[in-house]
Amino acid sequence: MAMNEGVLYVVATPIGNLQDITARALDTLKRVARIAAEDTRHSRKLLAHYGIDTPMTALHEHNEPEVTGTLLKMLHSGTDLALIADAGTPLISDPGFYLVRAVRQAGMKVVPVPGPSACIAALSASGLPTDRFVFEGFLPAREHARRQRLEALREEYRTLVFYESSHRVADCLTDMVEVLGAGRAAVVARELTKTFETIRAGKLSELLAWLQGDAQQQRGEFVIMVHGEAQAAAGAAMDPQAQQVLELLMQELPLKQAAALASKITGLAKNLCYQRALELKKAN
Ligand code: SAM
Repeated sequence: MAMNEGVLYVVATPIGNLQDITARALDTLKRVARIAAEDTRHSRKLLAHYGIDTPMTALHEHNEPEVTGTLLKMLHSGTDLALIADAGTPLISDPGFYLVRAVRQAGMKVVPVPGPSACIAALSASGLPTDRFVFEGFLPAREHARRQRLEALREEYRTLVFYESSHRVADCLTDMVEVLGAGRAAVVARELTKTFETIRAGKLSELLAWLQGDAQQQRGEFVIMVHGEAQAAAGAAMDPQAQQVLELLMQELPLKQAAALASKITGLAKNLCYQRALELKKAN
């Protein structure tokens, strides 16, 4: 990195409650020469609240490639920049990937200024397992594609995290009930950090009935979290003896055969042994 090049700061902003901004984020937003923001009018309100009048440039999914060129030139000439989204952490279901990749490819510095993200906030209060999770962002808008995506996730043992907007949340839960099963444990986190914050746990079918029964609850922004597939989760937490059998067999046999034989010896389902074998192979 050349000495006189600027730095791009990727700054997280609140997801509702304006107090959820770090001292470092405020300091950075004041100090940089320009802020790239998804919607400048929206972000102006946040900045005004904190008495920050740093100039802004709009950077959204429709203009990211062109604007990236301009911002790269500014960084090259030694100007420090910040990137913010409308809410939460940039690049997490928000623009900025193109810019961050380009800045890094140009050999310049990208510095995260961490803070809120709806995904992490929701998980932290969900009561679902958080040691491993899969962030899926928004499911496809069209029903067929949405169901296909859910089908692909049916056997996933890690906690699933989805973002959803008010107008699709009921459709999305309906598909989850049908594809993932009515009895699957889940948590809906709505309007986090805002006045009507609601975090509700239940079976998928219960959560759907609750939402359908109260139009008020369908308003706002949502994170839907779904417990991983229980049998697969059990496989993932395979007991040490069974895992040892599998590991020994994997030393002598091709993966598929090792999994099949481990299944016969341990009595565990074949696909669980296979899943575990794949994980062990990846980890080594
Ligand atoms: N970059 C953001 C982040 O770090 O969370 C996410 C932006 S994405 C365009 C917007 C989606 O995030 C919403 O549709 C909702 O699913 C989720 N979200 C954002 N704020 C939220 C909140 N306060 N409560 C619940 N979900 C929220």
